[in-house]
Amino acid sequence: MLLRRLREVMAEPVAAQARLDRIVMLIAANMVSEVCSLYVMRSDEALELYATEGLNREAVHQTKLRSGEGLVGLIARSAEPLALSDAQSHSAFAYRPETGEEVYHGFLGVPVLRAGNTLGVLVVQNAAHRHYTEEEVEALQTTSMVLAEMIASGELRSLGEPGTETAARRPLQFRGVPLADGLGLGHVVLHEPRVVVKNLIASDIDHEIARLNAAIADVRSSIDEMLERGDIAHQGDHRDVLETFRMFANDQGWLRRLGDAVRTGITAEAAVERVQSDSRARMMRSTDPYFRERLHDLDDLANRLLRRLVGRDLIASHDALPENAILVARMMGPAALLDYDRSRLRGLVLEEGGETSHIAIVARALAIPVVSAVENASSVVETGDAIIVDGDTGDVQIRPPPDVEASYAGKARLRARRQEQYRRLRHLPSVTRDGVEIVLQLNAGLLVDLPHMAETGAAGIGLFRTELQFMIAERMPSAKDQQRLYADVLTAVGDRPVTFRSLDIGGDKLLPYMPRVDEENPAIGWRAIRIALDRPALLRIQARALLKATAGRELRLMFPMVATRTEFERARSLVEGEIEYLRRTGHPLPSQISLGAMVEVPSLLFDLDGIARSADFLSIGSNDLMQFLFAADRDNRLVSGRFDALSLPSLRALRLIADEAGKVGCPVTVCGELAGRPLEAMALIGLGYRRLSMSAAAIGPVKAMLLALEAYPLEALLAEALATGGDPAGESLRPALARFAADHAIPV
Ligand code: PEP
Ligand code: MG
Repeated sequence: MLLRRLREVMAEPVAAQARLDRIVMLIAANMVSEVCSLYVMRSDEALELYATEGLNREAVHQTKLRSGEGLVGLIARSAEPLALSDAQSHSAFAYRPETGEEVYHGFLGVPVLRAGNTLGVLVVQNAAHRHYTEEEVEALQTTSMVLAEMIASGELRSLGEPGTETAARRPLQFRGVPLADGLGLGHVVLHEPRVVVKNLIASDIDHEIARLNAAIADVRSSIDEMLERGDIAHQGDHRDVLETFRMFANDQGWLRRLGDAVRTGITAEAAVERVQSDSRARMMRSTDPYFRERLHDLDDLANRLLRRLVGRDLIASHDALPENAILVARMMGPAALLDYDRSRLRGLVLEEGGETSHIAIVARALAIPVVSAVENASSVVETGDAIIVDGDTGDVQIRPPPDVEASYAGKARLRARRQEQYRRLRHLPSVTRDGVEIVLQLNAGLLVDLPHMAETGAAGIGLFRTELQFMIAERMPSAKDQQRLYADVLTAVGDRPVTFRSLDIGGDKLLPYMPRVDEENPAIGWRAIRIALDRPALLRIQARALLKATAGRELRLMFPMVATRTEFERARSLVEGEIEYLRRTGHPLPSQISLGAMVEVPSLLFDLDGIARSADFLSIGSNDLMQFLFAADRDNRLVSGRFDALSLPSLRALRLIADEAGKVGCPVTVCGELAGRPLEAMALIGLGYRRLSMSAAAIGPVKAMLLALEAYPLEALLAEALATGGDPAGESLRPALARFAADHAIPV
C-alpha cells in the first residue's frame, strides 16, 4: 500500500520540498508513528534535516548533526539500521531542543543507501516504548530506496542550507593510473550501467518469489556451466572470480535476505538492488582486504541477476551516446570500446586495467584519454554527471566545482594549441639542427590508427601489431579477413613502408576464442614466435595473407619474442615455404621481401652479430626488452616504474645493439614506448638510432624535440658517459640528459 502511494506522490507535479513533506507524512501514517524525518547527508558529512512529520517544522534545514553525532549520525556511519524502544537511554542520543523530540521513546532509523553509499538517514519515532519488528525494519529500508533515488537524481539540490551540497552530488576527485594521454571534459555514460530498477512494487509476492528463484537458478547454472566448460578466456584469476561467484550464489544468508526483501512487498529486482546495496555498504566498511575485493564479485553476481530479471533492453544502448561522453566502467574489453561512436567519446575511466592492457592500446589509437585504477568509480557517479579525465596525470574530477572546471577548460585550450603547433610541424623535414635525418614512424594495429598517418606526417608504419585484429574479434579472423585488413592498411599508407609483425599472442595477450593455457609466468611462457613455431599453421596462414596483400610491393615482416637465431631461421623458412607455394600456384608475389627480428629478449644481445646477419632488419621492442633486462613485470605497477630506461645498464644494452647491427649494416628501428618519449627519444638519437616508431600522439612532441637538437654533441656526451660510468651522482643519465636538453633549449 505504502509503496503504491509513494509512487503516486513521486509522479505528482509538485515542488521537491512539498513532495518530501508528503512522503514523510505518508511513511509516518503507514508505520503508525508520530514522527517520520529524513536527514540528508551533505558534502561536509553533516546530516541536515530535510523533512519531518511530527517534529517542529522550524527545525527543517536548521537541525544538523555532525558525522557520527547522535543516533542519526551513528546510523549514517555504520550504514546499519537501528531500532530502539527507548532512544533517550542510548549513549549516542543527542538532544536537539529545536526539534521537540524529547517526548519520543521508540526510535527506528535506517540508512538511505545507493550502491552502498550513505546518502541520508530515514527515521520514524513513537512516543511509546515501541519494539519495532524485523518486518517493520525491512519495510522502512525498502521505503528508503525511493528516497535514495530522489537524492541521487539531484532533485533536492536547491533545498538545503545555502552554500551546501548533498553528499550524493558532491564533487569528488580521484588519482588513478593514467593509461592514455589527453584531457577530456564531458558527461558520464556508464558502460554496462547498473540496472536501474524502475518497478519497485510487487503486485503479487508469490509471483515475485518465483521469479527470483528462477533467476537465481538460472544464474547459478550458467556459472556452473562456465566453470565446467573451462572456456575461461579472460585475465588472470577469472576462475577464482567464478568460484567466488558460485560461493555467493549458494550463500544461504544472501539468498534468505533476498527472499525476505521480496516479502516486504517489492519486486524481485528491487530486492536484489536493496540487498546488494546493504551488502556493499557493509563490505566497503570492512577492513579485510579479501572481503573488500570480493565486493566486485558480488556486484557482478547482483548485476547478472538484475539483467536476468529485467531483461537486457533496459541497458543504455550505444546509439544513445550523448555529445562529449565520458565512459565509466569497472573494466572493459577493446572490442566494447570500438563499439562506441568515437566522434562523441571524450574519455574513459576504469576501475581496473593495466598500462599495457589492450583497452589502453585501443584507446591510444582512438586518442581517447584513459585513467584506470579508480576504485569504485562506477558506483559513485550517476549518468549525466559532469566529469573530467586527465590522462596525463591520472586525475579524475567528478561533478567538479566551477573553478576546477574552468581551470581544466583552460588546460584543454592550451593542449589544443600545442596540438596545433605539432600539426604544423608535420610537413617539416624530420632533421636535427646539425643535419641528421631521423625517420619517425607510427605504431599501429587497427584501421582506426590509419588516419593518424596523414595527421602526423609519419614516414610509414614501423610496427603494425597484427594481433590486435585477433584480440578484438569474437572469433578467429579468417585468412580472407586478414588479407583484407592488410590490404586496407597498405592502401591507406600509399607508398610509405609498413612493417608488419606476426602474431604476438600469449602472455598477457589472450584471444577470447582460444583455450587458455595456465602458466605460472605467462610473460616468459608460451607466446609469440614460440606459439608460431609450435602451431605453424597460424603463421603460415598469416604469412600467406600478407604475401597476397603485398603483391607487387615490399613486404616487411618481423617476428616477436625471438630468443635465438635458430628460432628466427625456422620462422623464416616457414614463410619461405609459403612464398614457394604461391610461386608454384602462379600468384603474384611482393616485389621485395624483408624479414626482421624483434630484439626484446636479452639473449639476443649476446648473439647480435648472428641475428643481424640472419635478419634483414631488427626492431627493438623496448617494452619487453626492459621488462626482461630488469626482471620487472611491465604490467605490475609495483615494479614497472622502478628501473630507469635511461640508466647505464639499459643505455649500454641499447648502444651495443646499435653498434653491432651497424657493423654488419643491418638497419635497426626502436618501436617500444621508449621511442615515443621526447627525452628518451633524444637519448636514442644520441646512441646512434635513426629510425623510431611510436604512437601517433608521440610524433609531434618527438619531432619538436629533434628539430631543436644537435645530435653530434649529444653523441659525444653519451659516449663519454657510457665509457666512464656517467654521472657521479648516480647510475641514471636522466639528470644529465635533462640538463643537456635544458641548456640547448630542447623541448622534452
Ligand atoms: C615492445 O615490447 O616494446 C613492443 C613494441 O611490443 P609489445 O609492446 O606489443 O609487446
Ligand atoms: Mg614486445
